[in-house]
Amino acid sequence: MPRRSSFRDDFRSIKAAVDSLSRTPLSAIGDNLRGTFEPFFKGGVVDALIEPSFDLASAIQNLLGQLPTSYGQRFDFDAAFVLALAADWNPNRPLPGMCVPKHQGEWGFSELPLPTIDRQRMPIVRVFHFPGQDSIEDIDLLAYPWLAHEVAHCVLFLHSSLFPSEFKPRLDGVLYALGLKGIADRGLARTLARAGLDEMKQYWTPTLDQGNWAHEIAMDIIALWSCGPAYLGAFLDEVERDNLDLFQISTVHPPYCVRILAILRACPFLKLDAHAGALQDLSASLSKHYPNKLAQLAPEELIIAAVDAGFAVCKTLEICDWRRFDQGGAGSSSPDTHELGVALLLEAWRVRNQVDEEIYSTWEREVIGTLIANIATTQ
Ligand SMILES: [Zn+2]
Repeated sequence: MPRRSSFRDDFRSIKAAVDSLSRTPLSAIGDNLRGTFEPFFKGGVVDALIEPSFDLASAIQNLLGQLPTSYGQRFDFDAAFVLALAADWNPNRPLPGMCVPKHQGEWGFSELPLPTIDRQRMPIVRVFHFPGQDSIEDIDLLAYPWLAHEVAHCVLFLHSSLFPSEFKPRLDGVLYALGLKGIADRGLARTLARAGLDEMKQYWTPTLDQGNWAHEIAMDIIALWSCGPAYLGAFLDEVERDNLDLFQISTVHPPYCVRILAILRACPFLKLDAHAGALQDLSASLSKHYPNKLAQLAPEELIIAAVDAGFAVCKTLEICDWRRFDQGGAGSSSPDTHELGVALLLEAWRVRNQVDEEIYSTWEREVIGTLIANIATTQ
């Protein structure tokens, strides 16, 4: 009995999975995938004469494994929120198609290449990760300014040379100056200075995957630019979590204490001084324990360079400043007048600052309920 081809088996199960996508909001992804594999699957059987030149089955399976599997009311709400934020930033620069929310774990953003035969031109599925489950009860508007940080990642992937072209020359200048300083060192001191510079370069060099300190600071600055005090509030809630090590060093994210310095540096330029008191106090208390190593790895001039480069990106992309959306009043408008976007994040922040938690929760539930009903009627 001839051995059955696993290629054939894989494609049968992939076809079934893709067919089921067409009955979901991800049908555009299903259509794309069908266009890719159908040439190999003529008349329901795998055409044994044409085999893909690479492991197409695994590539498709890998993509399917990373897509969301729940498409409830929160899925629609969050999908619309992503587009609304980008439209508020600059209505002339809408996000491309295939932006999908996924509910699992923490805030995040990832780009998934959609497998095609032409590997040079793979369309991208953009996945925005939201904390909590695909359930309306898990929507926390006070945390949603973090979505702006993730949308910033998405926008900078679309304009990938913008930030490095602003930041890299400043980084090179700092590294060069430090290298000159270390030239007089001898022996162990010289080795240590070199190692320190290499480590700094590793953390701060802008990379294509954006997993570096400079890019992360840029996302904070773009989110702060666009959401102002609402981002400050969400950021403060995050850093005030219990047992969070604000000095923790990782390759991808700068320690929170460094991000705090960057945000505080940006506040006066965005007229946010009046709202930055709590973060300033926190920073002052952290400064007493600031590790030497961290002071060396994240010198002030690099933090300033990353903030400046973040601002430059906002200006180049003509991203609306938060003040354009700030209506000043809190909770005064009726729930019917709310729309997804920056103004809603600012209003949620204002309402929470003026009323107790219970009244805020009632307000938030009512607003979310109305918005979800509106989304349902426009679908
Ligand atoms: Zn980030």
